[in-house]
Amino acid sequence: MDDRETQHLGTTAPDLARAAELLRQGGLVAFPTETVYGLGADARQGRAVADLFAAKGRPAFNPLIVHLADMADAAQYADLSDDAARLAQAFWPGALTLVLPLARDHGLSELVTAGLATVGLRVPAHPVARALLAAFGGPLAGPSANPSGRISPTTAQHVLAGLSGRIDAVIDAGPCPVGVESTVVGFDGETPILLRPGGVPLDPLEAALGRRFSSWDDGRAISAPGQLRSHYAPRVRVRLNAEAPEPGEVYLGFGSGTGDLNLSPSGDLSEAAARLFACLHQLDALGRPIAVAPIPETGLGQAINDRLRRAAAPRT
Ligand code: AMP
Ligand code: MG
Repeated sequence: MDDRETQHLGTTAPDLARAAELLRQGGLVAFPTETVYGLGADARQGRAVADLFAAKGRPAFNPLIVHLADMADAAQYADLSDDAARLAQAFWPGALTLVLPLARDHGLSELVTAGLATVGLRVPAHPVARALLAAFGGPLAGPSANPSGRISPTTAQHVLAGLSGRIDAVIDAGPCPVGVESTVVGFDGETPILLRPGGVPLDPLEAALGRRFSSWDDGRAISAPGQLRSHYAPRVRVRLNAEAPEPGEVYLGFGSGTGDLNLSPSGDLSEAAARLFACLHQLDALGRPIAVAPIPETGLGQAINDRLRRAAAPRT
């Protein structure tokens, strides 16, 4: 289905008006968020959402996150418990997705939720994402703007490399500041569950509710599709916790020391998250196996290590 002419848009008001018009017509527009570039489609138009799955080659049992302009819009699509509202209040706009029970008369395409009784909602913080959502005036389904299973895009060039000819436009606002996807939180009854580590670390989330979260693989009953072991994957083999490269490998360093590339020479996890996918894209293009330095499992390191483990997982 490589039959679309992909417009490369800027961030001026006319550019965003053009993007909003394409979305109203059922088109696919990639847009910047603080985490990664998202691929937007009107979440109420089944045809547009079906095109989105096709463009990404994404399995249809994988639900999509719905992006909203404003926290006040959330109640139209989902029922927020007190704890959910507290997290929304504290972390929206931002890199947090809340998986919540669908509201009555939500009006979203069933494809968005993959037929589940829940929906993932997020209010992004990136000013261009917010301006686009305001111009569009509705809910946008927005998975990452890359072919399913491959490395997520943190620049418009990454988006075009993966999806040019399959989408209607990309809005180019330069590199994404956070660089890893949103943290996804759901609830099993009253119990908050970390479904995916991401741009908001676990500590401040637990502090906001004053209790510990369960982890999605603790054997909980909640359905969390899309948790594929192999994901965010380069074409080449990835080896983790490597103190040094073996012959033939390229080395992705962290902190002082060498490396063909270094996620953060000063050992800063925010910088490492922001650079992670760009470094993987760059090393993947060399076609040699990648060895990655150990990354501490604290703060944003949890999200970085989660993505690295999936990049290194055996392909299914
Ligand atoms: P992405 O591929 O970045 O769009 O990831 C979406 C993430 O949100 C996946 O980890 C999904 O499992 C999760 N997600 C979205 N909607 C739901 C839902 N209704 N129930 C459970 N998880 C969801
Ligand atoms: Mg993705």
